[in-house]
Amino acid sequence: MNGVTANGSSHTNGLANGHANGHANGHANGHANGHTNGHANGLVNGASYADDSDDELPAFDATEHPHRRYNPLTRSWVLCSPHRTKRPWQGQEEKPQGTSLPAYDEKCYLCPGNKRATGATNDDYTSTFFFENDYAALMPQAVAEEKNQHPLLQSQPARGRCYVICFNPQHNLTLAQLSTAPFSPDEHIVPIIQSWQKIYKQIPAENPFVKYIQIFENKGSAMGCSNPHPHGQVWSLDYIPEEPSKELASLRAWSQDPANQDPKVNLGACDDHGKPSMLLTLAKLELTTPGQPRVIMANDHFVAIVPYWAVWPFEVLVVPAQRQIRNVLQMTEMEVVSLARIIAQVTCKLDNVFKCSFPYSMGVHQQPTQLATSEDDEFAQFHIHFYPPLLRSASVRKFLVGFEMMAEPQRDLTAEQAAKRIRDCDDVHYLATLEQS
Ligand SMILES: [Zn+2]
Ligand SMILES: [Zn+2]
Repeated sequence: MNGVTANGSSHTNGLANGHANGHANGHANGHANGHTNGHANGLVNGASYADDSDDELPAFDATEHPHRRYNPLTRSWVLCSPHRTKRPWQGQEEKPQGTSLPAYDEKCYLCPGNKRATGATNDDYTSTFFFENDYAALMPQAVAEEKNQHPLLQSQPARGRCYVICFNPQHNLTLAQLSTAPFSPDEHIVPIIQSWQKIYKQIPAENPFVKYIQIFENKGSAMGCSNPHPHGQVWSLDYIPEEPSKELASLRAWSQDPANQDPKVNLGACDDHGKPSMLLTLAKLELTTPGQPRVIMANDHFVAIVPYWAVWPFEVLVVPAQRQIRNVLQMTEMEVVSLARIIAQVTCKLDNVFKCSFPYSMGVHQQPTQLATSEDDEFAQFHIHFYPPLLRSASVRKFLVGFEMMAEPQRDLTAEQAAKRIRDCDDVHYLATLEQS
């Protein structure tokens, strides 16, 4: 909300938010609160909403009325305030951002053949390049577990290894640009997914303590990435971290919930044990909804959507559309190609939304390694999240502060509006067009 570093005054925002929250709570909590909040709103806005028990309530409209949406993966809620998007978009006419970066930077620690700070030299790689992070957040050595001093002061040792994958030897490229000629996803993104496959197999083989492998990319300085060279990271851990662990538990609970055994709910989208699969059902639901309002694109094996419950303005979820794929190793060659193509299209369209290099954190969630063998494992479904922070232009980003820090996340643009904006963008990267004109 106020996280938006908007030019608008915080006073106006404050009032608007007060109204939105009061109203939403009124509906959620029933008559008593509705009355109290109605009264408060009356004072603030100079209008009175004494009672909302009238028979003639306006029909709910998801593009008009504040509402909460439930995220079944994390079992949390997000507040949507779509009426606020009635404010005019600002900065839409910004000039496209070009790139002034060189194809090779002798000071870059990721460019081929360069020396890193620790003295190691990068291979003269021509495709992808994988190495252990010189400044890892984790260490592979086992240490004795510390005795907790008090139930309120608990800790556990965390063991792991961190790696870096360079996506391409060329310093001034991004995944998004690899979507467009002279590059192609089949030639330039497939090797990245193949390196994820190698990593998923090799790391646990070499480090038998590893239970989870988190693959992610931080793109752009807005996401705290200091080096523009196209690269991602891999953290391998001796435990399953919070986010995937929460999601795996949700996937299991959804699959086992008696209510979801009903084909009207699961839409016949079942995992390879014939059990309901939350994410396969979601894919089917999105693809069969008339007009596909949250679908950005789909191919033979994957679908990219703005999830119904998205928190970030242009958040994207890429999920398998046909079958359960627990981890990246279970993908066929054709599925790898389909995934490369959908990643290319998503990142390209995101860049085209504001004609800038769209910052994001992208992460792969999948099955923990063999060692983890938790009950939740068999419900795992490979998927990719994109969390981009931009809101209204290349320079206006969203922050999770204020109400979002203290209460729950909030967004203005609905998932359907965001999906339309992304979907309507060109499949050709804007820089390729810039260079031609
Ligand atoms: Zn570089
Ligand atoms: Zn996930």
